[in-house]
Amino acid sequence: MTTPLVEMDGDEMTRILWKMIKDELLLPFVDLKTEYYDLGLQERDRTNDQVTIEAANAALRLGVAVKCATITPNADRVREYGLKQMWKSPNGTIRAIMDGTVFRCPIIVRGIEPNVRTWKKPITIARHAYGDVYKNSEIVVPGPGKAELVFNGDDGSIIREPIHIFDGPGILQGWHNMDRSIESFAKSCFEYALDARQDLWFATKDTISKQYDARFREIFDSIFAKSYKERFEAENIRYFYTLIDDAVARVMKSEGGFIWACKNYDGDVMSDMLSSAFGSLAMMTSVLVNPEGKYEYEAAHGTVQRHYYRYLKGEETSTNSVATIFAWSGALRKRAQIDKLDDLVHFADVLERSVIGTIEEGEMTGDLALMTTLPHVKKLSSEGFISAVRKHLEDELNGI
Ligand code: NAP
Ligand code: MG
Repeated sequence: MTTPLVEMDGDEMTRILWKMIKDELLLPFVDLKTEYYDLGLQERDRTNDQVTIEAANAALRLGVAVKCATITPNADRVREYGLKQMWKSPNGTIRAIMDGTVFRCPIIVRGIEPNVRTWKKPITIARHAYGDVYKNSEIVVPGPGKAELVFNGDDGSIIREPIHIFDGPGILQGWHNMDRSIESFAKSCFEYALDARQDLWFATKDTISKQYDARFREIFDSIFAKSYKERFEAENIRYFYTLIDDAVARVMKSEGGFIWACKNYDGDVMSDMLSSAFGSLAMMTSVLVNPEGKYEYEAAHGTVQRHYYRYLKGEETSTNSVATIFAWSGALRKRAQIDKLDDLVHFADVLERSVIGTIEEGEMTGDLALMTTLPHVKKLSSEGFISAVRKHLEDELNGI
């Protein structure tokens, strides 16, 4: 390696898996260079969360990061860890600094069949992670009255739009989004599609929301026409816009193999639908891509707290490390492509093939053993699965 990866360590069971993956699957094979940041909750608390900010800035500086799942503290965690305060979600902090879009993609293996029969290839979902209903203002309307939307411009201009004349109690809600945020969402999606050489689908409800949703469409269309049309044609991929309900219908009948860009709420809902229909959150990778092409790879699941407590009691665990291994292989491959290290690209490919081969030969963790359609299955422990992958990896690297 020539440039280090930004390594962001995390919490609980995934922190345990993190170390196993490095010791068993990476350090024996790769001259691994990382700039290490400990995003474990104790270190975040000790540094007043500065470590998260430093890690995100390092990702911007070096361009590729890999992150372990981390605890987002709630009241229980404040008590459990004796925290100074309820620190913000590290993913939220990193996303705000990197200004990126999250792409989630299922890992497809034979024997873990999607619930939708036609899906043969992964569907990657891109969720716009800013604004709309997630930054709303709401009013419970107590009784009759007139509701208006009012904008007070800094230049003194005022824009008013009637909403409704209430003849009794009801509810009201205001949303916003910003051109700047939609533009970086669009660019991240176009960049990712080019990188993955897959079609990009985008959908809103601009027949009903003639200003708000239409703005999303206009921004996507104009950025595409200005900066991406020719590049898409050169890669023989396309950008396709439709209405959200039409998109949902087409997704269910498609064979997959494309990127689906969603507004914030659609992405929240549809990503849970896709991950359950494809099998499991433990088989879903996640990458944050910023509009300048900086990447942060992680697993889509959390820290698997319940398994961790069992692990602490000395009980055997069977936690699926696939998404975390793929976070590493994704980050290594991206680093290798940027730095033109063919051997490292090859290693990332072989590592992923070894994981898939292990599962397809019937060796897997308990979560997959419960749902597989393969006939003869061996349920392995957390360590056992990683050792089985290592065996495959060694065989393939030695040309066996
Ligand atoms: P979770 O860690 O994703 O786990 C929820 C349940 O899903 C587990 O108890 C387990 O079910 C199953 N599961 C998830 N990942 C698995 C894996 N790799 N292998 C096997 N089973 C797996 O979600 P959570 O329990 O709601 O959250 C725990 C902590 O993670 C929270 O503190 C939360 O803040 C944090 N979190 C972090 C991220 C992130 O950093 N990206 C994302 C989400 C949540 P069974 O117990 O039934 O086996
Ligand atoms: Mg959700």
